[in-house]
Amino acid sequence: MDYGYIPGWNPANPGPLSRFTPPLEEGVISHWLPLHIQPSPAPAPGASVDSDQGRPGSWLLDPFGFSPRLDLEAARAGNRVLVTVNNPITRFLLEMACNPPAEADFKAALADLSVAKKGDERLGVHLQSLYLTTCEKCGGEVQAESFLWRKGEHAPYARVYTCPHCGDSGERVATIQDMEHARKIASTDALHRSRAFERVAALDDEDRVYAEEAIAHYLPRPLYVLTTLINRLDSLNLTTERRRALNALILVACDAGNTLWDHPSERPRPKQLNIPGQFREHNIWLQLERGISQWTETASGIPFEAWPGKIPESGGVCIYEGRLKHLAHEVKKEIPIAAVIGSLPRPNQAFWTLSALWAGWLWGREAVEPYKLALRRRRYDWAWNATALNSAFNHLFELLPLGTPCFGLLAEPEPQFLTSALSAASAAGFDLQSLALRTSHDPIQVVWRRGEHLKREANPPGVDAVRAALHAHLVERGEPAGYLHLHAAGLIALAESHALKQKDQEFDQALRSTQSTIQSALEDPRFIHYSTGEHVDTGLWGLQENVILSRAAAKNLSDLNIDSSVVGPPAALPQNDITESLADRVEVAIVTFLQKHPKAIFLEIEADLYPRFPGLLTPSRGMIYSVLLSYAEKEGAVWKLRTEDAAPARRRDLDHMVAIVEAIGRRLGYSTRRQDKNYLWEADGRVERAFYILASALVGRAIAGTPYPPEQTVIVIPGGRAALAAYKAQRDPELARRMKAYRVVKYRLMRTLVELPMLTRETFEEQIAGDPLERSKAQMMMF
Ligand SMILES: [Zn+2]
Repeated sequence: MDYGYIPGWNPANPGPLSRFTPPLEEGVISHWLPLHIQPSPAPAPGASVDSDQGRPGSWLLDPFGFSPRLDLEAARAGNRVLVTVNNPITRFLLEMACNPPAEADFKAALADLSVAKKGDERLGVHLQSLYLTTCEKCGGEVQAESFLWRKGEHAPYARVYTCPHCGDSGERVATIQDMEHARKIASTDALHRSRAFERVAALDDEDRVYAEEAIAHYLPRPLYVLTTLINRLDSLNLTTERRRALNALILVACDAGNTLWDHPSERPRPKQLNIPGQFREHNIWLQLERGISQWTETASGIPFEAWPGKIPESGGVCIYEGRLKHLAHEVKKEIPIAAVIGSLPRPNQAFWTLSALWAGWLWGREAVEPYKLALRRRRYDWAWNATALNSAFNHLFELLPLGTPCFGLLAEPEPQFLTSALSAASAAGFDLQSLALRTSHDPIQVVWRRGEHLKREANPPGVDAVRAALHAHLVERGEPAGYLHLHAAGLIALAESHALKQKDQEFDQALRSTQSTIQSALEDPRFIHYSTGEHVDTGLWGLQENVILSRAAAKNLSDLNIDSSVVGPPAALPQNDITESLADRVEVAIVTFLQKHPKAIFLEIEADLYPRFPGLLTPSRGMIYSVLLSYAEKEGAVWKLRTEDAAPARRRDLDHMVAIVEAIGRRLGYSTRRQDKNYLWEADGRVERAFYILASALVGRAIAGTPYPPEQTVIVIPGGRAALAAYKAQRDPELARRMKAYRVVKYRLMRTLVELPMLTRETFEEQIAGDPLERSKAQMMMF
C-alpha cells in the first residue's frame, strides 16, 4: 500500500548553513509520527511523569544526524530523539538548534570581539576597513557588501554596495583602489594560510596536503579575516555561552568566506569543491552581524543531552557523537526504539571536506581527528553512498524489533540516489512499505519496516516484471510521466521481489544492473519518449495506448458537467484501457473538495488530496495551484470557489451556452440536435459541426467523449478555464497534440458571435479559428 504524501510548509528562515542541510518541509514528521507509532504504555500508578499526555514520550532514533530541524520537530512533539552524529559541524548545528545562547549573548560576544585590540586599532574597525570602497556616484566611503571575482584572477572585477550617503546601490565596476587593496592583502597571504592549515593538520601529517587543497577555496582577504578572528577567540575572556555564540557566528562566516558562491547564483546548493567561473566574496564582518538572526530565529529551547546523559520523558534530544555501530549494543539493551526517522544523506564532498576544515579552525586538531577521513576522500559515488547506507541499515536491523517503522526522507531526489537508498535498505532486510514522490524538487517520503529475516533469498531482476510496473504506472497516471517517476516505479517492483541486489554482488555492480534493467524495460514500442535529448532521463515518457482512444471505452465516460456539480464526481474512472489523466482527476477532486468545504486553506486541500492520489501519483503544487487559480479566489489564507463557479451558476451558464449554440446554428441555417453530450448542427440530414460544452477544463474527457472528427468538433470552455487547459497541454505533449486538432473556444467568443449583426458561415469559421488558448494569461508553473 502507498501512504499519501504528507504536506508541510517551507520554513520562513531555513537556518544557518542551510545550503548544506537537507531542504525539508516543516510539519511533516509531527504529522507522520502519530500515524505510525503506538503511544508508550501508560505509566504505573504513582510513577512521576512529566509529559503533557501523562505518557512518556516514545524513543525515536535518527541514525543519520543530518537534519537538525527534523529532530527538533520530533522532540517538540513530545518524543525522545536519539541522534547519532559523526560530523562535528552537524553535531554543533543540532546542539545549537536545541539549546541556543540568548540573543543578548550573541550581541555581547560580537561587541566584545569588535572592541578587542588589533595593534592600535579596534578589531571591528580594522576588519571593516578591509572592505572599504568608494561610491561611484558621490565619492563617499562605503562598506562593500561583497566583491565579485572571476576564477583565476588576482583582483575583483566588481563590488556590490549600498551607499549610506547618496543611496546609490548595486553592482559597480571595481576601482583601481579595490584591486590594489586585494593585491596588498594577498602579499601577506602565505603566513595566514599556513596558520590556517596548522589548526587542522600538523606539519608532518600526511593529510596536510588535503587540508591545503581545501583551504585553496578561500581567497586571501576572507582567510585573513577568519584566521584573525579565530586567533582572537583564544585570547578573549568570554563566558561559555558567549563563546558558543561566537563560535556559531564564526562558523557562518567560515561558510560565507569560501569561493563556493557562484555569481549569478545558479547552483545555490554546492556538492563539490569546485571554484565557479564567477563568484562572490562576502564581507565577512557583515556576515557576522547578519548571522545572529539566523541562529536565534530558528532555534528553540529543547532538552538536550550528550549520550549517556538523561533527557526528560516528556521529550528532548540525546546526541551520540560517533558511529551507530558503537552505540547499537547499548541501545538494544536499554532503549525501546519506536521508530527510526531521518533524512538520508547523499554524497556532499564540499560540505564534508569543509566540515573537517571548520572543526579544526573552531576547536583545534583534536576535534578534526575522528572526522579527518573526510578531508582525504575526494570522490563519493553512488556505490559508496549505498555501501555506507547499507552499513547503517545493517546496524539498525540488529537493534530494532521486528516491524519497527522507518521514515526516510530523500531530499533533492534523483534516480541514482533513490536506487542507492532502496538497494541499501533492502539488502539489510528492510521491507519497503510506501514511497510517496511529488516532484524532483520535493523530498521523497519512504516508509520501511524492519523485516523478518536478513538471510532471505534474493531474486534476479526481471525485465518483464519491471516493464509491467512501468506500464501499470503510466496507465494509472493516464498521462506521461518524467523519468524519476518511472524509475521509482521500476525500483518498487524490484524491491518487492527482492531483486535490487544479489548476495554475491558489490553495490556498484548491483546499481549498474538495476539501471540497465530499468532501461531495458523502457525499450518497448508501447512506450513513447517525448524528448529532444537521447538520454532516458530527459523529457517525458508516455504510452502508445493513450494515443489511440478506444471509442467503446470512451462511451463509458461520464462527463457530468450538467449534473449537480461543476465537474462531475471524483474518480469516475472509465473502464480498462483508458484512464482519465491525473490532471483531470485532480481537477475534479479539488473542485469537489471546495464545494464541500467552502473556506479551505491550501494545507487542508493538500491533506485531502494526497491520500486520494498516493505514492507516485502525488500531484504537484503547480498542478493544485493551477486548478485553484482557475476556480477559486483567495481571501487571506482561505480559498473559496468563485461566485461564477458555484454549481448552480455554472449550470445556468451551461444552459445558456446550449441556447447560444442553437441560436447561432439557426442563423447559419442549421438545426441543432443533442446526441449524448454533443450538440450537432445539421443541414440536409448531415452533421456539419459537433459542439461539446464544458464547465471544466476536462478537455481530455471531452475529446474522449465525442465520436466526431476533430476538424468538425468544437469544444467550448469557460474563459476562466483557458489557462488551466493550457497548463495541462504544456505538461502533456499528447494532450497538446490532440487539442491542436480540435477547435477549443471560450464561452466569451460564442457570446460575441451571437451578437454579431452580420454572421455568415465563413465569419464563424474564421472567428473560431482565431481564439487560441495561449492568449489567456500565462501561468508560470511548470511542474
Ligand atoms: Zn554615494
